[in-house]
Amino acid sequence: MKMVMKLHIKNFGCQMNKLDSSLVCSALVERGFELVETSEDADVILMNTCSVRQHAEERVLSHLGRLKHEKKSRPELVVGVIGCMAQRMGAELAEHEAVDLVAGPGQIAQIPDLIEEVLASKGTVVAVSEDIRVKGSDVERVGLDEFEMAYDSDANHIPGQAFVRVMRGCNNFCTYCIVPYVRGPEVSRKPADIIKQIRKLADGGVKQITLLGQTIDAYEYAEGGKIYRLGDLLEETSEIEGVEWIRFITSHPGKFDAGILEAMASLKKVTPYLHIPAQSGSDRILKAMNRRYTAEHYLSLIEKARQMVPGISIVSDFIVGFPGETEEDFEATVELVRKARFKNSFVFKYSPRVGTHCEKKLADDVSDEVKKERNIELLAVQNAISEEDNLKYLGATVKVLVEGLSKKPHLNKAENDDNPQLVGRTATDHIVVFNGPERLRASFADVKVIKTSALTLFGEID
Ligand code: SF4
Repeated sequence: MKMVMKLHIKNFGCQMNKLDSSLVCSALVERGFELVETSEDADVILMNTCSVRQHAEERVLSHLGRLKHEKKSRPELVVGVIGCMAQRMGAELAEHEAVDLVAGPGQIAQIPDLIEEVLASKGTVVAVSEDIRVKGSDVERVGLDEFEMAYDSDANHIPGQAFVRVMRGCNNFCTYCIVPYVRGPEVSRKPADIIKQIRKLADGGVKQITLLGQTIDAYEYAEGGKIYRLGDLLEETSEIEGVEWIRFITSHPGKFDAGILEAMASLKKVTPYLHIPAQSGSDRILKAMNRRYTAEHYLSLIEKARQMVPGISIVSDFIVGFPGETEEDFEATVELVRKARFKNSFVFKYSPRVGTHCEKKLADDVSDEVKKERNIELLAVQNAISEEDNLKYLGATVKVLVEGLSKKPHLNKAENDDNPQLVGRTATDHIVVFNGPERLRASFADVKVIKTSALTLFGEID
């Protein structure tokens, strides 16, 4: 009798990685693998890695260190490193004693075959894109699209929600960022394929679709004499029965155009939510980052968004301690956060990424201590704004899409097992926790807000 192989997959990265992991899992389950929760129970362990921050790579290396020891007692264990770090390091990673398989993001469709190859040969297999900045052939692109179409299903996602990739790669070359070197050039998917995939997901009960792209506002596909842009995709997605909320992440301030705001303003299903990273409030630093916009342009863009889409919530990312960032530059960032009044901001301390312009040309000259202080200060400014702005929800009833059981039940104690604490999000992406029956998962609920904090709204079913 053929033994069932057990698979454990660990995810270290962004939504793109989570999506890739779920596709690979589905493909392997179809081949007879059984998914297990822990690495101890697995015959095959896959780590889907991220290279955007040094910390993420360090975590992978420390896991590999542990697995090296585990392989001494279980030499038959297969360990694969996939994703961005695999593409960045390639054969160098394959030299690690724990590693049997290295596969980049462009090779996800081949992973089931590559695992079989490792199992049969007992050797190490490396599959990464040789020249990542050269657009893959049509055969490769179609292969990736077919893989996406075949293995994406509502079962892959948070119940009731799905993330759908509309493009791969990035052409921006922000000087600190590794993405263009590990995910390759921008390639937009064919609109008809995207819409077909969303229809399939909606037929399976998905109510919220999040369109995914590294620079989603740069989406562009020429077909039949027409150029399709993000606004067109939003419009076509809106027409799909069953889809009720549509989001898109992540936007680049230098690419964003009025057509997207017009689509947001006119299409009821498109939620009033925009994730548009500013990264810095200093024009000098923005230039050194090669972001290709100024703080003034950024602020006028979000002002326009607020005029055209009333109630829109805007979220940003920032890097503090970028090479050469002075106290004055940092103050400009604080000023931008004060003016912009984001719903929330993700703040990261700069760390050089091997192979980027920054790593090669700019000294990492802001001390760790200063980076940490700036990180804490910027978050404190943002939190005060979020706390103040969230007060407007007090006493209001908000519609939420319920995600499921809340992971932090101490925030709002469940009354009993039949009425546990649930978590959901509003159309503006505010997190709401409340007590309610678990059957509400994946459906909409009206919740009255009875308490607020900077990051969470607390409520009760209305
Ligand atoms: S837009 Fe800039 S930060 Fe974003 S993925 Fe592309 S290069 Fe990286």
